[in-house]
Amino acid sequence: MNATGSHLKDLDYSVVQQCMHCGLCLPTCPTYDATKLERNSPRGRIALMRSIADGQLEATKTFADEMYFCLGCLACMTACPAGVNYAELFEHARAEAEQSGALASPKRNLIRSLTLRWLFMDLHRLQLVGHILRLYQQLGLQAFLRLSGLLKFLPKRLRELEAMTPLVQEKFSAELIDPVTQPSGGRKKFRVAMLLGCAQDLVFSDVNRDTVEVLARNGCEVVTPPAQHCCGSLHAHNGEWELAQQLARKNIDQFPPDEFDAIITNAGGCGSHLKHYAKLLEGDPAYETRAHEWDRKVKDIHEWLAQTGVIPPPDRGNTQVVTYHESCHLCHGQKITSQPRALLKAIPGVKLVELFESNWCCGSAGIYNLTQPEMADELLERKMKHIRSTHCTVVATGNPGCLLQIINGAKKEGLPLRVVHPVTLLAEAYRKGN
Ligand code: SF4
Ligand code: SF4
Repeated sequence: MNATGSHLKDLDYSVVQQCMHCGLCLPTCPTYDATKLERNSPRGRIALMRSIADGQLEATKTFADEMYFCLGCLACMTACPAGVNYAELFEHARAEAEQSGALASPKRNLIRSLTLRWLFMDLHRLQLVGHILRLYQQLGLQAFLRLSGLLKFLPKRLRELEAMTPLVQEKFSAELIDPVTQPSGGRKKFRVAMLLGCAQDLVFSDVNRDTVEVLARNGCEVVTPPAQHCCGSLHAHNGEWELAQQLARKNIDQFPPDEFDAIITNAGGCGSHLKHYAKLLEGDPAYETRAHEWDRKVKDIHEWLAQTGVIPPPDRGNTQVVTYHESCHLCHGQKITSQPRALLKAIPGVKLVELFESNWCCGSAGIYNLTQPEMADELLERKMKHIRSTHCTVVATGNPGCLLQIINGAKKEGLPLRVVHPVTLLAEAYRKGN
């Protein structure tokens, strides 16, 4: 990449000039809805990107701030009648912002080096941090600090971040799942790979275990090597294009797509990125062909189960009122909307109540709730208001970021809600039949 040294100038101009300024995306954009400012809308942002591509504007701090105020929720893509590829524009715009150095500062550079360039480039490091955090929580140090009142001496933002620290699981995926799981009680119909994710592995390893169990019960041999790589979505969405490419190559090497019927993910945000490796590795002769096959083989778990069929669980479930929140990257990024609902309805005892604005962002948006807390909180409050109005006891959602965000929302409001991945409810229904 970078014939001109600019991500946006080098981008295919048919992508840059596709917006016809109709404004149909504006009512679906959460940031425009909050401010009513054109520059905070998809149309306004695309105009800024085009100005840079046309050489009429430099990537200034104002431009970079605007790109980071965007949630990357892709609701605008669903609304757009012209088929504007906002996802591609957005990733290149953030890469442009990083390339310009407009936001650089010693503190920001250090945080990005430690996280994007170190922690998430080798998941052994992330697991080490997970082990330390688990000890901190299990030894009661976190509870002690919270009860002692010592946290009040921290700056407000650090106190807020501490309150959002997720509970690390007692066992990570490799401790719960065999590297190869055979289909349970029947012949092998498919051979699939299952991606464990990065933060997902530490915080929702139980969801990974449930996913593997559901796949095995539905005729899959599941390959789940313990040492895996991050999918790279965090990097692509935060302007680290080259690191995202490195991770894509590592994943293709680890899971050669011709060896599997499908490559399964249970995280909406990861799936949306994983399905676009061909675009990411365009022009790379060693990977381009395999990347196309990879894209075809990547399946979100709901999508895969809808495609192959689900063995119905036994009818032994107690009634539970469940509502479904749509992960942005599952519904807008991958257009997977009916399959999770069908899966939930297939579970005995589940009474599915539709959630108003189910496809409106909850404010999680990758690390948006860490970088833009005010807007993220506003979106979370709106989401929780709609959740309360369903009178549900369970919220189901297919993305770890949304799970954490809504768990935090329920905690803040003191709501006795269970927040789960749909696949967990299915796995539980199967276990009841044992
Ligand atoms: S991605 Fe979401 S926040 Fe960004 S412009 Fe599109 S709708 Fe608005
Ligand atoms: S809906 Fe599509 S074409 Fe219309 S303004 Fe939005 S991005 Fe541009």
